Amino acid sequence: MTTTVDTDTFLTYDTFFIGGGWVRPSTGRVITPINASTEQPLGRVPEGAEPDIDAAVAAARAAFDTPDGWSGWAPARRAEVMDRLADAIDKRATEFIARVGAQNGMPAAVAQQLETGYPTAVLRYYAGLARELSLVETREGLFGGPIDVRRTPVGVVAAIVPWNFPQALTMFKVAPALAAGCTMVIKPSPETVLDAYLLAEAIEEAQVPAGVINIVPAGREVGAYLVAHPGVDKVAFTGSTPAGRSIAEVCGRLLRPVTLELGGKSAAIVLDDAELDLAKIGAGLFTSTLLNNGQTCFLGTRVLAPRSRYFEVVDAFTAFAGSLAVGAAADPTTQIGPMATARQRDRVESYIAKGRAEGARLTVGGGRPADLDKGWFVQPTVFADVDNDTTIAREEIFGPVLSVIAYDDLDHAIRIANDTDYGLGGTVWTSDPNRGAAVAARVRTGTIGVNRYIPDPAAPFGGVKASGLGRELGPEGLASYLQFQTIYR
Ligand code: NAD
Repeated sequence: MTTTVDTDTFLTYDTFFIGGGWVRPSTGRVITPINASTEQPLGRVPEGAEPDIDAAVAAARAAFDTPDGWSGWAPARRAEVMDRLADAIDKRATEFIARVGAQNGMPAAVAQQLETGYPTAVLRYYAGLARELSLVETREGLFGGPIDVRRTPVGVVAAIVPWNFPQALTMFKVAPALAAGCTMVIKPSPETVLDAYLLAEAIEEAQVPAGVINIVPAGREVGAYLVAHPGVDKVAFTGSTPAGRSIAEVCGRLLRPVTLELGGKSAAIVLDDAELDLAKIGAGLFTSTLLNNGQTCFLGTRVLAPRSRYFEVVDAFTAFAGSLAVGAAADPTTQIGPMATARQRDRVESYIAKGRAEGARLTVGGGRPADLDKGWFVQPTVFADVDNDTTIAREEIFGPVLSVIAYDDLDHAIRIANDTDYGLGGTVWTSDPNRGAAVAARVRTGTIGVNRYIPDPAAPFGGVKASGLGRELGPEGLASYLQFQTIYR
């Protein structure tokens, strides 16, 4: 590997991590990630092309298919490697925070929690599951004779990840894949490549066997090539719903197993008995409605408010959004950083314009912060009097924009919550947690929280409807990297 640090921040890589070593790219194409807070180039890495994907898949195939290869290792032995990898990632925590935040605008305080400690918690959790994994269960058949039901790894996994939580969402795939005995090719998003190189360095230091994890940053077309590659056995994708649909079509044609974690437009249902004191609920509201500058798939961006307390709820959310510190991602006091790209800011601003045009009432934000003349910032924004049929209530904005929608009674709230194409996250706010859980159970969504929300590594995470197929995390997430073989003896 050749790495040169030109300045404190400018990083140059000129190879890919393939087959346990550093391999020259097949073309001269490069990716130049930009600092979202300063608009300055951060570094340069090669952009993968089809021959690089071929090499990465071949390396993963070899590591999987070799008789004494990764797939044949005892799960407890794999767990040792996984723990070593977690240690190697932990050693680089500060650098992960800096690189992720610089590239996608994630505030350092958020990255510290979710892009360092969280991925290694996931990795260690799956190392624990690997240690308990039973590879064969022998049953007595109905027609006589013993039957062995074997759990075998699915094979070579193509892992395609977006830019918003690049390390956490990579680890949602790496950890269960490694535990199951799969090998993989990771294709990071072009916006977040520098953290992927840090991960490659950690993989090298942890002595993960050659070819078990290969990393090729590239764009969509090359991602599509990887999805359809004949050497791939399973696809694990996190990203937008349109890309997920196109990947699902390809996997359907190929009869290739696929897990899809896609977009969301979840509801934060405020019940009539909810606590609205921001000193008590502010931290939970932040994580569940505006985390990572609104660039988070599970956020409850449709706030459903009872008419009996409508103005109170609007005032609370307006005060909440208006109180958040907007600033550079690297500043430890920042709560809302910039959008990841200029394109993403344009997109968010076009939704704010649509909200105004469609008659919603802006109560706070709506523009760019006056004191920040560089970086792709958008003020935290709240719209009140939003109709659930309007564009800002139906489409995923992926920015710091909340819509408050009034409801008449609980049945009406549930109808609005479920009147969406998506079903990924959501919250219920109430002073009665049992009542909250009963309301949560009526929402058609893959995950939901009562007075809090954060995906927990021990429980399945994923969506229904246009939010995706399959689950990551928990033992359920491991199951999708395993298949069964039945031997009648
Ligand atoms: P995106 O779909 O544009 O890209 C995601 C990744 O897929 C990138 O690596 C991209 O290069 C690649 N890609 C795009 N089209 C592809 C194709 N046809 N074949 C193969 N690869 C392809 O999404 P994005 O803009 O990077 O990320 C934001 C989206 O991700 C949002 O919609 C968000 O809700 C979603 N997301 C979902 C979850 C979840 O767990 N459900 C988590 C985070 C983000």
